[in-house]
Amino acid sequence: MTDNFRVGILGATGVVGQRFIQLLEHHPQFEVTALAASDRSQGKPYAEACTWRLPGEMPDAVKHIAVQAPSPPLECDFVFSSLPGDIAKSAEEDFARAGYPVISNSSSHRMGADVPLLIPEVNPEHIELIDAQRTNRDFNRGFIVTNPNCSAIAIVIALKPLHEKFGITDCVVTTMQALSGAGYPGVPSLDATDNVIPFIGGEDEKVECETRKLLGVVSQGTVIDADMKVSAQCNRVNVTDGHMASIRVKLSRAASLDEIREALASFTAEPQKLQLHTAPAKPIIVRDATDRPQPRLDRDAGNGMSITVGRIMPDNVLDYRFVALGHNTIRGAAGAAILNAELLAAKGYLKK
Ligand code: NAP
Repeated sequence: MTDNFRVGILGATGVVGQRFIQLLEHHPQFEVTALAASDRSQGKPYAEACTWRLPGEMPDAVKHIAVQAPSPPLECDFVFSSLPGDIAKSAEEDFARAGYPVISNSSSHRMGADVPLLIPEVNPEHIELIDAQRTNRDFNRGFIVTNPNCSAIAIVIALKPLHEKFGITDCVVTTMQALSGAGYPGVPSLDATDNVIPFIGGEDEKVECETRKLLGVVSQGTVIDADMKVSAQCNRVNVTDGHMASIRVKLSRAASLDEIREALASFTAEPQKLQLHTAPAKPIIVRDATDRPQPRLDRDAGNGMSITVGRIMPDNVLDYRFVALGHNTIRGAAGAAILNAELLAAKGYLKK
């Protein structure tokens, strides 16, 4: 028996599922006790079902756990979900209805009016939507909380201090997204090599609408989106891990270049105050070198949980421009969900 929260992982054999297992190996509060994946994997011990594709060894503690179907009951106190979107919709609802908190990476519930789309540094107060969700959907102990799209997380963490201090009215974003964002095996090598693909299905729209929800305010059990125009173009580039975004913003209040830099560099928030285990000391690291951030050099900053920002300068069309980079499977996926779970535990929403 463990004193920690017992954790189930849905989609445990995938790119994000493996990150969960890696990041949870020595976690002080959470212990992996149940794993689920497709019928290809069900009934096998995890070591047999999963081809481990991360650097380092598969943790011994999960090797003998038998992979199950992603449906309740599972032997755990709550579940992380990294199921494909189409499977996640009903599977996550089934778990929530059966009394399990569901902390999801998948896109299917993100835009639900009563579903928190949560980044603990950006909108921790959106957790209160859980109360409305439980009433609306007749959930008792269970609920669904989601983290945003892997690019939206990096973009919105960088926007947050600027929006808070100066107000952002317009935002134009161009992303350069890593191959691992497409899961395994992802983009065929003959499409990816020597190439940039200017289309990721649904991604432009996700970045645009999730950004407005994340920066919105909760009122009467729903979110009023931020009054901000967002335009996004998303590209797949030949990089293994690390999503980069070129961002231009128009502000409602004048700000000097020094004020913009200082707002980004000095940003800290609720997870740092609460000293949550997975929270980086600095959510945003500003680099002044003219050629940073770069995916290979900067994606692991803050154990993959910090966003690196550089190239901050005035813009000839909008007010300012800069480049932001984040690790897509850590800050953009598994690490994001684990930080959400740590915040939910700190606020009393998880029960053993
Ligand atoms: P992936 O590598 O393709 O893994 C998919 C996982 O889901 C595997 O464990 C797979 O199990 C399981 N699965 C597939 N079909 C299933 C079915 N019919 N029933 C039950 N389980 C099934 O994908 P991923 O990159 O980890 O992404 C997982 C989710 O996270 C997606 O919703 C994605 O949009 C989201 N996400 C990904 C990233 C990223 O950077 N990759 C970032 C943020 C969010 P088997 O091994 O048994 O097939």
